[in-house]
Amino acid sequence: MAPPPVTCSSSAVAAPRSNRAPPVGAVPGRGCGKASRAAGRAGAGSMGSSGERRGVETEGDLAALAELDEATLLGALRDRFLRQQIYTDVGDILVAVNPFQPLQLYGREVSEQYRCHEKGTLPPHIFAVADRAYQAMLGRRGARPQSQCIVISGESGAGKTESTKLLLQHIMNLCKGNSQLEQQILQVNPLLEAFGNAQTVMNDNSSRFGKYIQLRFQNNTVRGAKLSEYLLEKSRVVQQDTGERNFHIFYYMFAGLSSEQKEMYGLLDPLLYRYISKWFGTEDVAHRWKQKYQEVCNALDMVGFQEQEQVDMQAILAGVLSLGNVTFEPQDSDGSLKVSEGSQGWLKAAAGQFGVQEDELLNCLVCTMSVTRGEQIQRFHTQQQAEDARDSIAKVAYGRVFGWIVCKINELLAENVDPEVELREIGILDIFGFENFAVNRFEQLCINLANEQLQHFFNHHIFQMEQDAYRVEELPWETITFTNNEPVLNLLLAKPLGLMSLLDEQSAFPQATDKTFVDKLNSSFKGNPHFQPSRGCVLGFSIIHYAGKVQYTAGGFLEKNRDTLPANIRGLFINSVTPLLSLLFAASISRTGTLMPHKKTKIVPGADKFNSTRKQSAGTQFRHSLMVLMERMYSANPHFVRCIKPNSQKQPSVVDSQMLLQQLRYNGLLETIRIRRNGFSWRPLFEEFAERYGILLVKPDVPLTKGSCLEILQSTDLTGWLCGKSRLFFKYWHQDQLAKYVEQLERAAVV
Ligand code: ATP
Ligand code: MG
Repeated sequence: MAPPPVTCSSSAVAAPRSNRAPPVGAVPGRGCGKASRAAGRAGAGSMGSSGERRGVETEGDLAALAELDEATLLGALRDRFLRQQIYTDVGDILVAVNPFQPLQLYGREVSEQYRCHEKGTLPPHIFAVADRAYQAMLGRRGARPQSQCIVISGESGAGKTESTKLLLQHIMNLCKGNSQLEQQILQVNPLLEAFGNAQTVMNDNSSRFGKYIQLRFQNNTVRGAKLSEYLLEKSRVVQQDTGERNFHIFYYMFAGLSSEQKEMYGLLDPLLYRYISKWFGTEDVAHRWKQKYQEVCNALDMVGFQEQEQVDMQAILAGVLSLGNVTFEPQDSDGSLKVSEGSQGWLKAAAGQFGVQEDELLNCLVCTMSVTRGEQIQRFHTQQQAEDARDSIAKVAYGRVFGWIVCKINELLAENVDPEVELREIGILDIFGFENFAVNRFEQLCINLANEQLQHFFNHHIFQMEQDAYRVEELPWETITFTNNEPVLNLLLAKPLGLMSLLDEQSAFPQATDKTFVDKLNSSFKGNPHFQPSRGCVLGFSIIHYAGKVQYTAGGFLEKNRDTLPANIRGLFINSVTPLLSLLFAASISRTGTLMPHKKTKIVPGADKFNSTRKQSAGTQFRHSLMVLMERMYSANPHFVRCIKPNSQKQPSVVDSQMLLQQLRYNGLLETIRIRRNGFSWRPLFEEFAERYGILLVKPDVPLTKGSCLEILQSTDLTGWLCGKSRLFFKYWHQDQLAKYVEQLERAAVV
């Protein structure tokens, strides 16, 4: 489904309903009992220095700032952060600044305080978002019962994954039902992090894949969960930048395996392995890894991996490491390649762990066999091609192990549903933020494409939905412009002439190169304001994204997009005596974590002339999985969490203002606040308003009608409000004015 269009410079007003504490006589939320409201009050009082008290929590809402410019916004966020108030609301959006230190904010009793709490009665918190999503999913507080999604964004190290874990923790706490399933949902995380996370310069525990977790409910209990993963950074298996590491699991294995086990997997001194950069860690670090290894083993048992599967999985990982040390040199006789003198042992070890014949593995590395018109043709690899084949095998083997783990997790968490009852979900999206590095490759383009889609989704919700609300009530709206990123999305996704389609078109031509691809882009997008050809001799191009200009290096785009398996490797691995390896290559694992039999692989017309089946390109697969994701999200009610990284040194209580400001700009936060302030942020239904402020008419039995509302308002000197068909529209400050009238009345009554 294509996202609904948003017109350029669209106008809209008002952000979602005010979250501020109702001034007096707050209307209790429907569906939640007194006990929880009492707990809420207890919570606000007991949160000490890190919390705020009932009545002053407007401070936690950025839209309540008297001045609104970047400097004030920045100052407010910084001051709150330095007081350890890391959470701030902007209407329904939660801004979370990473504290880089453990805070006493997430205990069981805090979770209880936020259970079913009334919005605005407690300080902003990640648990409040989980709570709102859960209550809304159930249709409490007058909402229509509906699936929900929580979108967490922010740059690497901003706290997305930690926020995801906290959201899950609170939701599981709320829905107490099948406690085994709830525990399992929380316990699969160490497994995912061990195989999918790595230490980078940005974050010691950086997720190198995106994930969407769908929690599925019937009534108020969780019945199952499904995990979808996006774009695992497979290139990390074979190469890491300075100061970075491979996926955690490799280090955990070295630290956690006994010497007998290491012998069984053919593992030697970790410093010998090229793929883990010949870099290990101190005693302390190794000790922590050892504990982590144990955690992974427990999780593997819990998820239900058979012992043999666990052995095979580690054998494959050990095989990958040994394979990485294989190097090549020319044969004396015919110019073909052989394994270098010193690395024969590594080849033997790799073949042993993969359960295949050494010479057959070598053949896959040093030559390509193809069949043309019934004749077998052998082409020798150059040294570079052999090294590329080696690295591709390592990447594909690791990628399939990861996909298989996700698949097994999904089997474990598959729902057990009552067919009579409707199923609703809460989805949580923890996906890489916008990336702009010194060198940006195909992966960055995919990541930034995902972010463009998310930004569009955000715009749609915040701006266009608001606009629609005014239209329904037949009210005028003020003009507020926002940066609409639809033109960039078109540049990337249009068919047949968008960048991704052109990439696929070029990838299908055997003669095409990265250079012909760039030439094609330059001619197709000439004059497009969101595209710039590369200056100088660098082969590349720039895209002007919503978050800024990114320069991409085109080298490797076609190869990565084709994502071809090294010739003959599939046949070799299918026949492996290691059952898991055979399974992984006999079936394909979709990006959403489902095992699919190979016969379903799509055959591209015309591809059979190369005597092979052609699978979808990496770009197309990613685009497809994004499309499925966006469809799910557009059909749910969204909640947004914007994570912010206060400094790049990962230090507590340190704010780099420039860095903060940049993220506020990427996040479109200033625009959002402006909308909220200029718009009518509080929109009570006639009945709701009359019930709450009928007291101002000082007469009994005020009917809950539009007429009463107008009478109430005329008894005050409030101006600037609007009356729609079913509700009133107020600016955010109107509530304070009304509160003063009520206060005066109550004072007069006491006197
Ligand atoms: P990436 O995109 O690289 O995966 P991320 O946004 O998922 O980054 P996290 O891994 O969630 O970032 O957070 C990075 C680190 O910041 C955590 O390992 C933790 O040390 C710290 N951190 C994040 N959130 C919190 C929090 N609420 N309380 C304490 N520490 C936190
Ligand atoms: Mg993460």
